[in-house]
Amino acid sequence: MGGLYAAIQEALLGSGETAVIEWDGRAFRGQEIINEIDLAARALDASGVKRGDRVLVQAEKSLQLVFLYLAVLRQGAVFVPLNTGYRAKEFTYFLNDALPALVICDPASEAEYSAIVSENGVALLTLNAEGGGSFFKRANELRERGSIDDVVVDSDDLAAIVYTSGTTGRSKGAMLSNANLLSNARTLGQVWGLTKNDVLLHTLPLYHIHGLFISLNTALLAGTRVRLLPRFDVNLVMDVLEGSTIFMGVPTYYVRLLADSRFDREAAKDLRLCISGSAPLLTETFDAFEERAGKALLERYGMSECGVIASNLPGAGIRRGSVGLPLPGMELQIADENGSALPANAIGSVEVRGVGVFRGYWQMPDKTKAEFRPDGFFITGDLGKIDEEGYLHLVGRAKDMVITGGLNVYPSEIEAVINALPAVEESAVIGIPHADFGEAVVAVICLQDGERVEADLIIHALKQELAGFKVPKAVLFTDVLPRNAMGKVEKAALRNTNAGLFA
Ligand code: ATP
Ligand code: MG
Repeated sequence: MGGLYAAIQEALLGSGETAVIEWDGRAFRGQEIINEIDLAARALDASGVKRGDRVLVQAEKSLQLVFLYLAVLRQGAVFVPLNTGYRAKEFTYFLNDALPALVICDPASEAEYSAIVSENGVALLTLNAEGGGSFFKRANELRERGSIDDVVVDSDDLAAIVYTSGTTGRSKGAMLSNANLLSNARTLGQVWGLTKNDVLLHTLPLYHIHGLFISLNTALLAGTRVRLLPRFDVNLVMDVLEGSTIFMGVPTYYVRLLADSRFDREAAKDLRLCISGSAPLLTETFDAFEERAGKALLERYGMSECGVIASNLPGAGIRRGSVGLPLPGMELQIADENGSALPANAIGSVEVRGVGVFRGYWQMPDKTKAEFRPDGFFITGDLGKIDEEGYLHLVGRAKDMVITGGLNVYPSEIEAVINALPAVEESAVIGIPHADFGEAVVAVICLQDGERVEADLIIHALKQELAGFKVPKAVLFTDVLPRNAMGKVEKAALRNTNAGLFA
């Protein structure tokens, strides 16, 4: 197995006259795309980027960003995407951590970032949302030069360092090899059955594994046409839904689609596969989607460190409330705290071993060591169980589990019961230090617009459905739950804000 780009290039060449990417009303064929990637590769080469060098990129989504990403792979360099929401202080942290040979940022950040990178002697070029900026300016200046040599990329070479979303602490750089990304994307194309006749509506950001690897790599390798939108926006989506056969999104996207009355069976008629991941999908959303669109949402589970770990299978392979079966090539176990495998239906640590599992955290050998069992299983930090059919059910993150009076409480179980109460929009259950119980279960609840309910009433309702130790000791109300840039609820922030509740 060679590099990821070699495989993508082969697929692009194989697509012939068929358009592979649609962007801003234009369709691009494989050879045109390869030519633009070669051009971008020349600019990387001219900027001194060599095989193994990191290229730190914080840029708005555009077709040119896709070219840049693929050019970095082509050169055997390491793509390090940054969330566009990060500001100078965060940028400085990632710059000092990744130690890139080149930084590419939005022109709006150029002045501020130039001052920061000049201290490290790193080159900086720009790329804006329209694909303009100094990077492609340099590339275009090199257009007349002869084409650039192919770079031999080994499957063990790093292809990317992806910073985790920082939901449970400081973001860590997950080192992903060409083999990791290639095997994951190929396998996904097979299990999801992507074909040349499919059209993927791509609305996810390109700085996270979901939009970049799980969606884009998979589609490009399968020869599936990518209808690239600058971002998720219900109006934009409604405009181009017709003819789109595959949609991938975080649960919030589906909630927003369902909030729009135009989204119905007729609008969704061409969609054959709607995939959800990156955060828990509520069963209410699953049911509402099925009722409105007449289709079952397909949930899958993945993380920066491993790509997709488990997925439901199209058609009869979908199980409501489960994230699916382990992907071929990925071994899954539910383990106790010593790493011993537990039987079916027992809740424990979700651990995975196999081709998709990353090469460790960048510059964090101790952290890497701590997260692997001696037999090679990676400790994901999530808790779950595997049912008799082999389907994985997640119950939350290990760091979010509440231990109250010595008993384990899994927040997602309580949240599901709370969310089903009338007037409740959504909720987050957390553990807060408590003198008697060690930790006390606390629910933070968002009510639906215009609703008002007393905390006592909610506690009373929960007592009818849950064992006493699982019932929240306090119910707090909030207008919105704090979420990070990937739309994940920041439970650590909720715990901090309310740390003194029982003091
Ligand atoms: P950090 O590791 O920095 O705390 P993070 O874990 O949120 O951040 P990501 O790699 O973006 O960073 O996210 C992976 C996590 O997302 C998984 O460990 C899991 O908790 C969650 N996740 C992914 N897919 C699903 C899903 N289908 N259902 C529930 N949770 C999911
Ligand atoms: Mg994580």
